[in-house]
Amino acid sequence: MSHPSSPLPHDSAMAPRPVNPFTTAKRVVIKIGSALLIDGERNEIRQTWLRTVLEDVVACRANGQQILIVSSGAIALGRRVLGLPQGPLRLEERQASAACGQVRLAHAYQEELARHSLGGAQVLLTPFDTEEWKSYLNVRATLRNLLGFNVIPVINENDTVTTPMRRFGDNDRLAARVAAMVEADCLVLLSDIDGLFTANPRIDPKATLVPEVFAMTPEIMAMAGESASVFSSGGMVTKLEAARIALKAGCTMAITRGDIPHPLAHLAQGKPCTWFLPSVSPVAARKIWIAGSLNPRGSLRIDAGAVQALDNGKSLLPVGVTSVVGEFSRGDAVRVVTAQGNEIARGLIAYGSDDAKRIVGRRSDEFESLLGYTGAEELIHRDDLALL
Ligand code: GLU
Repeated sequence: MSHPSSPLPHDSAMAPRPVNPFTTAKRVVIKIGSALLIDGERNEIRQTWLRTVLEDVVACRANGQQILIVSSGAIALGRRVLGLPQGPLRLEERQASAACGQVRLAHAYQEELARHSLGGAQVLLTPFDTEEWKSYLNVRATLRNLLGFNVIPVINENDTVTTPMRRFGDNDRLAARVAAMVEADCLVLLSDIDGLFTANPRIDPKATLVPEVFAMTPEIMAMAGESASVFSSGGMVTKLEAARIALKAGCTMAITRGDIPHPLAHLAQGKPCTWFLPSVSPVAARKIWIAGSLNPRGSLRIDAGAVQALDNGKSLLPVGVTSVVGEFSRGDAVRVVTAQGNEIARGLIAYGSDDAKRIVGRRSDEFESLLGYTGAEELIHRDDLALL
């Protein structure tokens, strides 16, 4: 891999889409795999390459974008520290390698981000954290808070505690789950290939790049073929599984070549890649999910003023709620019904039922004396509310 330090040249052969989903996205998750980040012969970080990626990240931030990074590399780095030979690792060797390597990985990011006076934040996740509801809500809130503090979350699987039965194993799907969790509008998988090809381009000279995918049809899934171990550590199969998760969450995804300096600047310039384009926005996808897949645990009866506020796209405030029925926890789904008993919306409630009962009918300046703490102003935030 070469690392020219000159600014990115404009390549006139590049044919950008009329709207580049990467440059127009507000919240972007970038997935960096071990194959790109770690020099396989020395098991060391390609620091100069990482520098160019983080320079691109800084440019994205100057463009008003929020960035989260999902980075592998802990195990590859740690096995060197522990002096383990190449080849498959036993579970305890893998866990120990991850523990030793993760500290180096975090340090490499911290060092590069500090050049730009930026802070990094390490977040280690397991499948449990993205699937178990309460944990999911906590991780989601933490990631959003970190973005609010203007630091860059650098996320990896917590390979020190995961086991073969319970792990993502590849960071492609982890990155897609993170993108769905934070309602990112773009996910970029940096790869060692330009994108998805109709067949393996290293074997079939007739293989062509697929520029756009709108649905994960069997035909598209078949294009991953046997390429799993050929193209990159996660392979094309896990990338397409990530695309399935992303599209369902309304998140646009790109598979693009990352083994060049400034890969994100190249993507911004419209270099060839595969775009996976969803039919709904992240917020709409989330609302479809709230409306359809969650089992409501209780209901809120609201007055006519609140009905009007919801129709106008506002959040549901406690002052517009006349009664609370059921036992539920913060983050559970609840029904929203009119005075006549018609269900008009479903949403994720910001308070458990005991606290909700204390604050209904009241204004936010009274919450602290009623609850003993200052909670959210809304009972259901409009992003967590699906009108039926
Ligand atoms: N999470 C693993 C690591 O940091 C790698 C998973 C992957 O390669 O996608 O080493």
